[in-house]
Amino acid sequence: MSNLYTFTGGVRIRESSFEKSAGLSPIKNMPAPDRVRIALRNDTKLSVAEGDYVFMGQMLCEESDPIPVHASVSGKIAEIELDPNGNALAVVIENDKEDARDPEIIPFTQKLTETSPDEIVEIIRRAGICESEDGFSVARRIECALGGARRLLVNCTECEPFLSARYRLILERPKDVLNGAKILLRALEVAYADIVVEESRLDLIRALEDIIGNNPLLRLRVTATKHPEGDRRLVINSVTGKEPPARETTAQLGYVVFSAEACADIFRAFAGSMPQIERVVTVGGDCIREQSVISVRVGTPLSEIAEFCGGVNGTPKRIVRGGLMKGHALSDGEYYLSKEDTAFLFLSKKYVKSRSTSACLRCGKCVESCPMHLLPLYLAKHAEKGRIKKALNMGLKSCIECGTCTYNCPGGVEHVYHIRHAKELYNLNRAKEESDE
Ligand code: SF4
Ligand code: SF4
Repeated sequence: MSNLYTFTGGVRIRESSFEKSAGLSPIKNMPAPDRVRIALRNDTKLSVAEGDYVFMGQMLCEESDPIPVHASVSGKIAEIELDPNGNALAVVIENDKEDARDPEIIPFTQKLTETSPDEIVEIIRRAGICESEDGFSVARRIECALGGARRLLVNCTECEPFLSARYRLILERPKDVLNGAKILLRALEVAYADIVVEESRLDLIRALEDIIGNNPLLRLRVTATKHPEGDRRLVINSVTGKEPPARETTAQLGYVVFSAEACADIFRAFAGSMPQIERVVTVGGDCIREQSVISVRVGTPLSEIAEFCGGVNGTPKRIVRGGLMKGHALSDGEYYLSKEDTAFLFLSKKYVKSRSTSACLRCGKCVESCPMHLLPLYLAKHAEKGRIKKALNMGLKSCIECGTCTYNCPGGVEHVYHIRHAKELYNLNRAKEESDE
């Protein structure tokens, strides 16, 4: 095995065998539901109307859209309504169960070596591929890195309890991930890619080593299993020793990181000529009957996802979108799978901290463990009191909301809760200032 790479701070979380169990079984394909509700961004201009018939994979917005959205099933558009998950519109499609593929999707037959970087970026843009978690356009991220990136890193780590979707995807479709990485190398015009895997995934390491062999384009890099290794900036920090100063400047340092899922989606867009219309997600937690990793069509209702996984056991105290550490609690009401989703956790009170007992004991554990070298106790205090300027001075924008400080805090301080709230206030104030100008 190669040298072990890591970063300063973070936390080694001991995952119980129960928390690992979603990753033990192969990915299950969930049948497409009777209706999907596909959310659009605020600025999306629709190219379809109520009553139209749409094919699976058909673009629902204008051709020039930076992150196009596509129909995940074929059928009739029943409604175009306000998305219950946000303020934008959502397209509701009645599934005709035919999976009739959009005839306008032209199979990609050209040789990759004869395809220019611009052409590759355009294929990726048209496929509407966005990153897991942050939802950032993959085509846009390539464009930002063009000319500046010297090294591509493929993030194959997860490092949070319950999360197993990335692991299963790579284990079952390693060639999709590696071929997607090769397409990215061509688009970015960089010489090689580091495939970054965590040490605890021995079966993944072996599988990838076997396929990579002596390929000069791909190098395996094994990192310590430590949260939040999955963050893009910390992947760079671990493997190269460099610390990107702010979230959007990794390409300026010469590095660009894409997730294993993005690579697999890129390969699918080229090999199957299919846009991003489904996601592989973990469904876990102690309130779901069958913890699983499943492949789901975009726009599927969460209640049906839960039913597919055996149903909910008891009344979850919290349903989390994303991981236990970095995820966001979902509010009541139905939620529909979006392109950036990675996991849904149905959690009892065992996994949900109470905010009422929080008190700082001045132990310094949060400071020692913060991977971004912030002072979480002060940052959270300013954030809680709404002192946004002071929070900004303490590095509010550098906080990656990894939850390490909260996890390590013996006083029960919910740093991330306060920090997120302060960021929301800051963004609201900025939006107001811009609209006043
Ligand atoms: S870990 Fe918690 S108790 Fe310790 S210094 Fe930080 S906020 Fe205070
Ligand atoms: S302050 Fe932010 S970056 Fe630092 S440990 Fe807490 S959540 Fe993570």
